[in-house]
Amino acid sequence: MDYLPLFFKLENRNALLVGGGQVALRKARLLVRTKAIVTVISHEIDPQLAQLLKDNNGISIIGEYRDELLEGKLLVTAATDDQALNEQVYHDALARNIPVNVVDNPKLCTFVFPAIVDRSPIVIAISSGGQAPVLVRVLRAKLETLIPNGYSKLAILAGKFRAQVKQKFGTINQRRHFWESILQGQVAETMLAGREKDAYLMMEKKLKDADTALPAGEVYLVGAGPGDPELLTFKALRLMQQADVVLYDALVSKEVMELCRRDADLIFVGKQRDNHSVPQQSINQMLVDHAKKGRRVVRLKGGDPFIFGRGGEELQTLKEQGIPFQVVPGITAASACSTYAGIPLTHRDYAQSVTFVTGQLKNRSTVLDYSQLIAAGQTVVFYMGLHNLADICTKLVEAGQSELTPAAIVSKGTSVDQQVLVGDLSTLVKLQEEAQLAAPALIIVGKVVLLREQLQWFSANHLGDVSSL
Ligand code: SAH
Repeated sequence: MDYLPLFFKLENRNALLVGGGQVALRKARLLVRTKAIVTVISHEIDPQLAQLLKDNNGISIIGEYRDELLEGKLLVTAATDDQALNEQVYHDALARNIPVNVVDNPKLCTFVFPAIVDRSPIVIAISSGGQAPVLVRVLRAKLETLIPNGYSKLAILAGKFRAQVKQKFGTINQRRHFWESILQGQVAETMLAGREKDAYLMMEKKLKDADTALPAGEVYLVGAGPGDPELLTFKALRLMQQADVVLYDALVSKEVMELCRRDADLIFVGKQRDNHSVPQQSINQMLVDHAKKGRRVVRLKGGDPFIFGRGGEELQTLKEQGIPFQVVPGITAASACSTYAGIPLTHRDYAQSVTFVTGQLKNRSTVLDYSQLIAAGQTVVFYMGLHNLADICTKLVEAGQSELTPAAIVSKGTSVDQQVLVGDLSTLVKLQEEAQLAAPALIIVGKVVLLREQLQWFSANHLGDVSSL
């Protein structure tokens, strides 16, 4: 971020505008909307500008710009066609630490005028830091159509009730929940439909009838998908943006985490680099404790929470403790990696069934039954299998699978770092020894792997296959 977006309160504060033409007029119009006291200095002042200043408590000075005019100014704008003068204003302002903008000259700006969508008191400012003004205008036009004028009136309503709501509800959480129900519910709909009076009446009633008891907390077990944030569900996104607390795993990507509500407490409960992970029991307990405090807890898991995600165990604890919960499915790694690798998991000619198995055999009392994994017309997807790759390949062959059965590894599927290694049960181990693809990675075994050659469509930063059959 090159510029920090801030909103300046300029009411009754002094701003200097150097230049008296049409460009200065445009800037002056903007400044007076904030009730700033605008001083214009120029050899000539456009009559419209002079009138604007007169009507808005401003000051016109006909004459030569001089440094002392900066005294007591909160910001300064230069809008002249005299380049030397613009530069002088810039340097003078810089020396006095006064924010300065030279119109259409990003190099001579310490602040920029953003494009504005004005639904006062809601104001949206958009800037490209001077790099793509036309794109900014396009975006502004989009937002203008997206955000109806009624939002202005809705914000005014919220402002009017703010103190009463604060008085009624003891905690920030309660207030936030109440406001969310108002601003995403009937009151907002009514206001946006133009029925202002009804909206006020409804708001008064809702406030009067509102339950001030501490709200019951709730847990949302949410699948975050394989990494690409565009693969989140709408529901996941909505709950992530309402969360008070988010407990998340290592598999949840940074990009996805950035979509959580900014003020939520983000708690990492995955495996740390030193391999120390928070025990499952403690995670279960944390979910219960936060929910009992009346919080909305999002338990965010990579992929789908019910596929090798221990989601079921967490819910059992919640159920025992009487905590309400919801589960949001996510796109599981097998589905995401296979599609992004161009390997359909089933295909009329090659596979009529697909099996998801865990390749993580540590701590497991039952051993995988490989004889079940070699049936014809079957695709087998191994989660958590990278460390046991050699074992998996050997055991499949020992169980009777042909060592020419195609097999692939998909590493960091759907991300810009996705890599795919294609071989067969006799070559994959060697190929991986050379390529050293990183976790998380999925192993896909079956004839469908051959289809990648034809169907590969996603190109990550890497040049597609590391190796081919
Ligand atoms: N609940 C998750 C799976 C958790 S088990 C899901 O539904 O996807 C963790 C395993 O998932 C990893 O060892 C790896 O095999 C697989 N995995 C998860 N994300 C992946 C990704 N982006 N690329 C490749 N494999 C992934």
